[in-house]
Amino acid sequence: MDKIEAILCIYTYFCYICEINLGFMEISTAKIEALRELIATPRSIVILSHTNPDGDAVGSSLAWAEILRKQGHEVTCILPNRYPYYLEFMPNISSVVIFKQDDKGAAKEALKRADIIFCLDFHLLSRLDQLGDLIDENQHAKRVLIDHHLDASEDFDLMLSYPKASSTCYLVALLVERLFGIEHISCEMAENLFVGMMTDTGNFAFSSVTPDVFRVVSLLAETGISIPDIHNHVYNSFTEGRARLFGYVINRKMKIFHGGTVAHMSLTEDEMRRFWFQQGDSEGFVNYPLTIKKMKMSAMFTEHTDFIRVSLRSRGDIDVNLFAQRYFNGGGHKNAAGGKSFMTMDETIKHYEKCVKEYAAEGLL
Ligand code: 5GP
Ligand code: MN
Repeated sequence: MDKIEAILCIYTYFCYICEINLGFMEISTAKIEALRELIATPRSIVILSHTNPDGDAVGSSLAWAEILRKQGHEVTCILPNRYPYYLEFMPNISSVVIFKQDDKGAAKEALKRADIIFCLDFHLLSRLDQLGDLIDENQHAKRVLIDHHLDASEDFDLMLSYPKASSTCYLVALLVERLFGIEHISCEMAENLFVGMMTDTGNFAFSSVTPDVFRVVSLLAETGISIPDIHNHVYNSFTEGRARLFGYVINRKMKIFHGGTVAHMSLTEDEMRRFWFQQGDSEGFVNYPLTIKKMKMSAMFTEHTDFIRVSLRSRGDIDVNLFAQRYFNGGGHKNAAGGKSFMTMDETIKHYEKCVKEYAAEGLL
């Protein structure tokens, strides 16, 4: 057993004791030290994040990659598929390998020689789709999870899993602070971290936001980032097609039922073509029904070649993580979750309406 393995074994026991006592958001010293030991000497590192990457997935990967590169590591960031076009402004995003477009095999090559694989902003290897199969070809790399989703799988050597954290970017900022000191957060890193912190908290409005989130935001702001510019890039850089598609979906496709408390919307491939759809264009649509006063839960069904993507949002105590796990083979967070359906669109919608009834009958809605 080498030194790193010994530390990883001891840390499991330590973390168990420390975290129960320290509670929310306190990353145990044992975990920090295990991570410090793991990256103490230059290594070959791969950073992975989830399919349909969002601001938090991309921002946390890029920021973590930057700090590791500065420590002398060789780092490759890999995403299963392409990020939305409105994230293109993010510093160093062009360095990311997109597995679906990777003709030269750069992802396979980097994964083969990796000593450490960091998995950021997802909790199950199934969230990597086909990219997940490549990981298993490398049995020697240490796997480290840095994430904030509920019910993480146990497939990792070191788990930094904090479901109460509002974003993975927030977690990465805390890690950089503890491992290296906050002065190591560059302006580029701060910009990437801010994107994920902002998008995963609905502009710092969700219940996951704590006073410490604002402390970290203030540290990021001090690096000189322009918050209005970042906001404009993320929220005001869409295409005309996206604006028209949004109007169409809300006007024509939003169905409200269950006494005005539950909504669903759907988009077929044909409808997407009609509005010059680009990947990411329907992100956020699912939140809109929740702007209606009585609304408790909202769903969006988006047609893909082999399946229908299911996005769920809820308010307060309504648990869509459980709903997604039970009925759509998915998961996520209490108020934002997702999954997949392999039925037709009509069947998926009928299934959803039936599940809503069942959920309500159990007093869960
Ligand atoms: P979104 O609706 O934005 O795609 O996803 C909302 C949340 O649910 C995200 O935190 C995401 O990671 C999670 N999620 C989305 N799709 C799936 C899925 O197929 N499986 C699981 N386990 N989680 C998902
Ligand atoms: Mn996230």
